[in-house]
Amino acid sequence: MKILAIANQKGGVGKTTTAVNLAASLAELGQRVLLADLDPQGNATMGSGIEKRTALPTVYQILLNQVSVREATLRSGPGHFDVIPANRELAGAEIDLVNLEQRDLRLKVALEQVTDDYDFVLMDCPPTLNLLTVNAFAAAQTVLIPMQCEYYALEGLTDLVATIKKVKQRLNPNIQIEGLLRVMFDPRSTLAQQVSDQIKRHFGDKVYDTVIPRNVRLAEAPSHGLPVLAYDRQCKGAKAYMELAEETLKRAGLTAREAA
Ligand code: ADP
Ligand code: MG
Repeated sequence: MKILAIANQKGGVGKTTTAVNLAASLAELGQRVLLADLDPQGNATMGSGIEKRTALPTVYQILLNQVSVREATLRSGPGHFDVIPANRELAGAEIDLVNLEQRDLRLKVALEQVTDDYDFVLMDCPPTLNLLTVNAFAAAQTVLIPMQCEYYALEGLTDLVATIKKVKQRLNPNIQIEGLLRVMFDPRSTLAQQVSDQIKRHFGDKVYDTVIPRNVRLAEAPSHGLPVLAYDRQCKGAKAYMELAEETLKRAGLTAREAA
């Protein structure tokens, strides 16, 4: 079971879009996928076609050891993957966990119950470097960082890389950066090209070959509770996320299977 955290402490950079659509695309390639929503906004939950208001229990009860992963897991019908939902209740987790033992390791320990059930666990992190993100990094083997090729994109990464380093020293010596994913990319923008080149110089082969273009279908799909594959499988965004899933499999040394 490969566990990836999808993180960037900036909001609106495509974390949730990447989490939902990579989950659906890996499932399309026959992988058994669990998507864990760690953001109190619950966008990954909704985007997977699950009503977050009624979806109880959530990852919050898992973190408090009140339910097991299996008890909280729901099925994304349109996505063909499993989901641990989140909703606003999770916003209180930081405070509720603070005095508990092993508060950084709650998610890691919980996911050990399902090691044999999935090929991939994707964790959609909130736009902050808080206790929820630290729980994700403690559980993860790798971190996938979506980024827009904007002027301040690289500066924004400094804090994220520092947090990953701290977690590596304290909690999870094996954590690595899986890759930097260029998202909402506009090939006609000179600035985007320049920043993209800069990212490649800086991070070398840590940068995914796959580039996710700006595509309105990707922004429309969540309002229907659908991953883009189920909304418009021919659009550029759907094809790009399929390519990302193939590249992710290749990097993990895995091959596609007949979808179940
Ligand atoms: P985050 O989870 O990092 O806050 P989201 O995935 O929610 O970011 O994306 C922020 C907004 O941008 C959403 O409205 C989403 O639909 C839109 N979006 C994300 N990726 C793309 C893309 N490649 N093309 C067009 N719109 C996108
Ligand atoms: Mg999000």
